[in-house]
Order: sequence, then C-alpha cells, then structure tokens
Amino acid sequence: MDKKDDSMEKVVALCKRRGFIFQGSEIYGGLANTWDFGPYGVELKNNIKRSWWKHFIQEREDMVGLDSSILMHPKVWEATGHVASFTDPLIDCKKCHERFRGDKLIEENMGIEAAAGKSLKEISEIIKKNKLKCPKCGSTDFTEAREFNMMFKTNQGVIENETSMVYLRPETAQGIFVNFRNISAIMRKKLPFGVGQIGKAFRNEITPGNFIFRTREFEQMEIEYFIKEEGWEKLFKEWEDLCKEWFEKLGIDKKNMRYREHDPKELAFYSKKTVDIEYKFPFGWGELMGIAYRTDYDLNRHIKFSNQDLTYFDQETNERFVPHVIEPSFGMDRTVLTVLVNAYAEDSLGGEARIFMKFDPKIAPVKAAIFPLIKKEGLPEIGRKIWNDLKSEFTVEYDESGSIGKRYRRQDEIGTPFCVTVDFDTLKDNTVTIRERDSGEQKRVKIEELKGILTEKMR
Ligand code: ATP
Repeated sequence: MDKKDDSMEKVVALCKRRGFIFQGSEIYGGLANTWDFGPYGVELKNNIKRSWWKHFIQEREDMVGLDSSILMHPKVWEATGHVASFTDPLIDCKKCHERFRGDKLIEENMGIEAAAGKSLKEISEIIKKNKLKCPKCGSTDFTEAREFNMMFKTNQGVIENETSMVYLRPETAQGIFVNFRNISAIMRKKLPFGVGQIGKAFRNEITPGNFIFRTREFEQMEIEYFIKEEGWEKLFKEWEDLCKEWFEKLGIDKKNMRYREHDPKELAFYSKKTVDIEYKFPFGWGELMGIAYRTDYDLNRHIKFSNQDLTYFDQETNERFVPHVIEPSFGMDRTVLTVLVNAYAEDSLGGEARIFMKFDPKIAPVKAAIFPLIKKEGLPEIGRKIWNDLKSEFTVEYDESGSIGKRYRRQDEIGTPFCVTVDFDTLKDNTVTIRERDSGEQKRVKIEELKGILTEKMR
C-alpha cells in the first residue's frame, strides 16, 4: 500500500538523500529558502519542461515559444502596475518580531473568503477583532498592516543611481507582451494564437516556505493566448481542459487536484475570470497554477506607456483592435513538488519494506539502469555494451557495485522504471531480465529487442 498521509519530511529527506534537491549554499550554513536542483532533480525538471513545451507549444499550430530576458525596462513595471501595487500586506508580531502576510494569517485561521479582497485597514481590523495569534509565539499584538513591494531591485551598469535601477522580473508574462508586435508581425500569426515561455521569476516573498512551494527565486511556465473578445468563454474552457490534460499526462492523481474559481471579490481588477488548479500537498491545498482571462488590460497599458501601436489588424474583417488574452500561468517548482509528492510511495516487496518513486516513465530522471550480476565472467562488458547502445535514446545508468537488492533499492528511490540485469544465462542465450519498478516483476528478453521494448514501455 502507498502511504501518502505522512508529512513532507519524508519527501524532503529523500530529495536530499538521493540527489534531487539540496539546500542552497549549504556549506555556508545555507541561504534561507534557496534550493539547488541536484543531478536527478535537474533531469526531472528538464523532463517536465520538455513535456510542457511539447504539449503546449510543439504540438500546436497556434503556439510559438519565446525566451525573453529577466531584466526589462523599468517602465514595463510601471505600465503593469507592479511598481505601485505588487504588494503584500505585511504585519509584524510586536512580541517576537516575526513578519507575516496579514491576508494569509486571516486565510489560515478563517478561510479564503474572509481574506479575499480586503484593504490594509480591513486586514488590521479583522486580525484585531478575531484576536488572531502569531503562529510563532502566540501573541495577539501585531503592527498595523502596511504595503510591502515584492519586486527585487538591482542596478544595471557601473553607476548606482535611480536611473540605473532595474527590477528582476516578478513574472515571465510581461516578456511576452512586450514582444507581441515582433511575434505577430514576423511569425505572421492570425488570432487566436499564443506565446509560451519558461523562465526564472523573483519575488521578495514575506513568508516563503514549504520546501520549494514558495521561494523568492522560482521558475514559471507562462502562456499568453491572444484572442478576439467574442467567444473568450469557449477558449477559456479549452485552456482549462488542456491544462488538466497535461497534469494527467504527468501522472498526477486526479483525486488530489481541484479547480477553484475565484470569487468576484478575489478577482484582480483586470480579470474577468480566474480559475486556480490546486493540489493537496501534505501541508494542505496549494495553488499549482492559475488561468486568467485578463481582457485587453496588459496590451493597453503597454500602448499607453510605450506610445507604440500594439494593435492587431484582422484581414478578414478589416478591423484593427487590441487583442484580449487568456493567461495560463504555471509554477515550475510547484509542479516539481507535486510530481515528487505524488510519486512518493512505500510498500513491501518480497517481504522487504521499500520506498519508491512512482514517476511516470516519461518524466523519470533515469529511464533504465543496467546491472551485471557480478563483476566478472564478462558480464560487465556485456552490461557496458548495452548501456552504450541505449544512452543516446534515454538517460541510462550503469551500476555494478553492491548486491542486486541494494542496486534495485537505489533505483527505486530515484524512480527508475526499469532495471536490466545481465546474468549467467545472458552468456548462454543473449537474454537479460527487465525488472519493473512498481510490481517488481521480471521478464527475460533478447538483448537485441531491449531498445524496442523499452521505447514501447516509455510511451
Ligand atoms: P500565491 O497566491 O501562491 O502567492 P500567485 O497567485 O501570486 O501565487 P501568480 O502570480 O498567479 O501566483 O503566479 C503564477 C504561478 O507561479 C503560481 O500559480 C505558482 O505556481 C507560481 N508561483 C508564484 N509565486 C511563487 C513563489 N513565490 N514560489 C514558487 N512558485 C510561485
């Protein structure tokens, strides 16, 4: 039986033990809430990115990709409203001096409805009236809520002054809007069409935490899908379905996902509809991604601030207008966390307790591991030859150290779906065994058929 009711600690411990995710700057005592993806973590992450790119860009005629820069003209963030209002309501506990997001404190104690759309004054009042306690020390004495801008600032060039100031982008989306004219003209795309990109974003979060769920440096996978205003509802539904489909492709258990439409009070002022896809993490439900109908807000703002023409000319109707947009916005790191939590399993195989990661073979960091039963009698040579033959197709490992049982367990913990063993029968009939991770079942197959069989299983 799988065990999923245990806390995050087991997943975090496995991530460290098996080289998925390490504490950032560990040898210096760590930099709080920074994480480094280790050798298996980066494979997993790249496989997820490739799957996203394939599903949303490569396999669609109406989509193209982009990779825009992290540093953008500061006016971009004035246009979007980030300079004025990309803020969270900050409160300090007067006793222990810990800082919190006022809205999150209300949400955690009283539910999302109670926190949605509240002004700073209302947040302070709710916290006081309901005597909400500091999660760290239990005090009910907080400062008034005040606005805290989450954008990271830095300076470009050698002179440090206001004119050299730039922001690290807090979202990747704006790189798409500022390239809208380039892409629509050069790629000769007709509406509806979309642009997707994967990249880093930075937010000076007040309360990062829950491992890689909320960090200050993270990756997003965002799409802006440019449309005509009429018929947005139908396209919104199509994007909802596409996003669900992708999470299912990753093997995420449907019963741990839910779709939450934002209440009108919670909606950003430019959004007519927002749906979040949430996942049930060991620490509770958390947002995995959001899909928002942002109307023509962003392009209009950039038209105003840049004084450039970002309209679209429809050759069929001879109309010129500003396209509207549907924005599916995914968190890369939250997707990795979901995949890790979703895959973590414990059972007993052949009377022995084991931990294994039930990754879908398509995204498993290592697809197959090749083991010679012993280190002599020519078995390692055959094993290496198989490894050589497979390595251009998949990520394959070769391992000849320790007992076979130990080698299986190591691969189970990194979620390798297939282990191939070269044994004495191989010398007689050129066959090897394939052992499947989840069932532990073994089958003998001919070496020359191995690549085809594994390729088929990977589909
Ligand atoms: P939250 O309410 O959790 O702060 P958000 O609604 O501000 O998230 P968006 O601005 O919609 O998030 O960003 C899109 C996606 O980017 C989110 O769904 C999430 O997956 C990811 N994301 C946002 N902030 C972070 C963060 N600090 N760390 C990791 N991922 C994040």
